[in-house]
Amino acid sequence: MNEHEGIIIKTINYSDSSKILYLLTPHGMQSLLAKGAKKIKSPIRHLTLSLTKISFNKSKSANLPFLLNGDVIDDYEMIKKDLEMQTFAGHIFEVVYKMSNELDYQRLYDFISKILDEFILTKDPEFMTFVFELKFLYLMGLAPVFGRCVECDSNERVGFDVYKGGMVCQNHVSRFTVKDSNVIVGLYKLYQYQYDGVFNIDRRQTRLIIDQYYEHYLNYRSKSRDLLNNIIGY
Ligand SMILES: [Zn+2]
Repeated sequence: MNEHEGIIIKTINYSDSSKILYLLTPHGMQSLLAKGAKKIKSPIRHLTLSLTKISFNKSKSANLPFLLNGDVIDDYEMIKKDLEMQTFAGHIFEVVYKMSNELDYQRLYDFISKILDEFILTKDPEFMTFVFELKFLYLMGLAPVFGRCVECDSNERVGFDVYKGGMVCQNHVSRFTVKDSNVIVGLYKLYQYQYDGVFNIDRRQTRLIIDQYYEHYLNYRSKSRDLLNNIIGY
């Protein structure tokens, strides 16, 4: 039995033969030095690829512990082999790497594990990425308000407004308010994570709203987002 568990979300080269790994674990982010991991014969080489869930043991050093040994729990081979899935996963990992401080890591870890499994089950990484992005806003305390007008608590809701942070009533619409009920219901279902594989979402419009949300509240756009643009066209 290995002592720790995590998902490798980023790696960087360190010297000619070593790598630094960044793992999302149930207890927080963990950096590890994988000494000699780039050598063909390294016994830890298979444990050091990005997008791999491993269990592992590490040295005691507090700063940058060595990865000592471990086992692959899931190599997410299907995701690695599919450019689109891989790019969506890369986008999710970038967001997590940049944003996750002071979060409930156990929840985040379980959630990311589930999202990656669903990538494979649903073969719909775009849909699952929307689910991730909306739920991640919730984990960060930035969840959109759906149940009432975000400005005045009115039950009347006529549209969704990114810059106000949720639904708005007739008195609080702005020129940025989206009134297309199909888009709004889609956002809500994604937020609640109801995948029935059937309901239609306007993917382009949903992408736009979520991008605006992240850019407005977190001032953030991932590099993978631009790669995605090349693949999916928006
Ligand atoms: Zn209002």
